Amino acid sequence: MLENDIERILVSETEIIKIAKRLGKQITKDYQGKKPVLIGLLKGCLPFLAELIKHIDLYCEIELMGVQSYHGGTESTGNVKITKDLDVSVEGRDVIMVEDIVDTGRTITGVLDLLKYRGATSVEVVTLLDKPEGRVKVLTPKYIGTTIPKEFVVGYGLDYQEFYRNLPYVGILKQQVYKK
Ligand code: 5GP
Repeated sequence: MLENDIERILVSETEIIKIAKRLGKQITKDYQGKKPVLIGLLKGCLPFLAELIKHIDLYCEIELMGVQSYHGGTESTGNVKITKDLDVSVEGRDVIMVEDIVDTGRTITGVLDLLKYRGATSVEVVTLLDKPEGRVKVLTPKYIGTTIPKEFVVGYGLDYQEFYRNLPYVGILKQQVYKK
């Protein structure tokens, strides 16, 4: 049913699992002897976070944070609002932010600044998707799953008006869906 709204698949489920394995292995290597806290940005991070942590072999904690940026449309407004704050302190911790996608970089930059201000020892970013063409902030995530063109994508956590997050792949919506 949902797949009828998809123009084409950009990143398949098999590719996403391969990406999570590769990044999980790299994070395991880079954080040897450390106990990082992984902070996922709701709600888009959920499927990727769930897959990624299976491939991280470390004593790590998982936390969630709510940040709003797109307000249901297809373009970033640049307003970053914290809708659910962390339940723990990040002071003295090695933090890994887990994102579904980095586009303008405004959301993640806003959160990075906040976590540094709160005393995190280190803050790095792992993102499933990177859209570097859309960047307005200087930011290169340390761990990037795959780079995609400047298109609006849905699936694997990414929504259009809160729908399509449950698609097991990342795809491009048909134009007619926006006109519904
Ligand atoms: P940024 O602040 O980097 O522009 O955007 C980051 C957030 O905007 C992502 O976490 C995601 O919620 C949303 N976003 C950016 N690009 C896309 C896209 O292509 N599709 C969807 N569904 N959301 C996007």
